[in-house]
Amino acid sequence: MYSFDYQRATEPKDAVSALQADSDAKFLAGGQSLLPTMRLRLAQPSKLIDVTRIAAMKAIRVDGQTVSIGAAVCHADVAANADVARALPGLAFLASQIGDRQVRALGTIGGSLANNDPAACYPAAVLALNGTVVTDRRRIAAEDFFVGMYETALAADELITSVEFPAAEKSAYEKFRNPASHFALVGVFVAKTGQGVRVAITGAASSVFRSPELEQALSANFTPEAARGVTVSSGDLQTDLHASAEYRAHLIPVLAARAVAKANS
Ligand SMILES: Cc1cc2nc3c(=O)[nH]c(=O)nc-3n(C[C@H](O)[C@H](O)[C@H](O)COP(=O)(O)OP(=O)(O)OC[C@H]3O[C@@H](n4cnc5c(N)ncnc54)[C@H](O)[C@@H]3O)c2cc1C
Repeated sequence: MYSFDYQRATEPKDAVSALQADSDAKFLAGGQSLLPTMRLRLAQPSKLIDVTRIAAMKAIRVDGQTVSIGAAVCHADVAANADVARALPGLAFLASQIGDRQVRALGTIGGSLANNDPAACYPAAVLALNGTVVTDRRRIAAEDFFVGMYETALAADELITSVEFPAAEKSAYEKFRNPASHFALVGVFVAKTGQGVRVAITGAASSVFRSPELEQALSANFTPEAARGVTVSSGDLQTDLHASAEYRAHLIPVLAARAVAKANS
């Protein structure tokens, strides 16, 4: 590891102005994606601005309508929060399945979304639940946030401060995990609300996406059988050393059916 400066921010505006003062600086959250990248010399920031001590970014608030999670909340705290588990069981379960104990103790929801790894779990929840990414300067709808592989709508100096999820009648997440990393080979998040059913898939393509076929089938009939009856094309899916596009296409309805069974239980 080469040398770099470290600064601990206590307010969002201080973190943003520190970043604006140094174009080679980066925000540091749990470091679970950034530090390995630095060790591999794929990133060489001159300064890391730690955002995990910003009190306003560490709160979880749940009311009848909305679940709001501070960007610096770690995965373990989302998984363990009883109010989140009651309001959005799929979200709490998703957080409990990320990586291992150490990754969950350090990694944050804001860091995960900013990184937008194509196999990350949280993007599926944000897209399926029609969430909103709140930053130091604006609110970004899930549909507009995920732009492509490791790419988001965030400006280079923009700080995610929280993520808001509207309440859902039912929600569930199922993933077929990579046995080594626990990242999603394929992950499917299913959400049923008064507005209909939304299904988001992660791990299968260059970025998270919704499945219109599954949404249509499940809006008509919210059962595992309806999900299993859907055929997903492998055309836009990814082949890599872990799985072929065809295998991923096969997994999507299988996992969607399991998620629906769980949501209905
Ligand atoms: C062994 C291992 C297994 C893993 N398994 C899984 C898994 O199963 N599922 C899964 O989803 N993820 C998995 N991860 C990734 C993990 O969830 C990380 O926590 C996440 O990718 C990054 O979060 P972080 O808080 O560590 O961010 P960091 O690594 O600190 O930062 C990541 C990027 O986001 C930027 N950033 C951080 N916070 C903010 C913010 N508030 N606003 C704007 N930009 C910000 C940073 O500048 C950096 O570019 C795994 C990681 C490891 C090491």
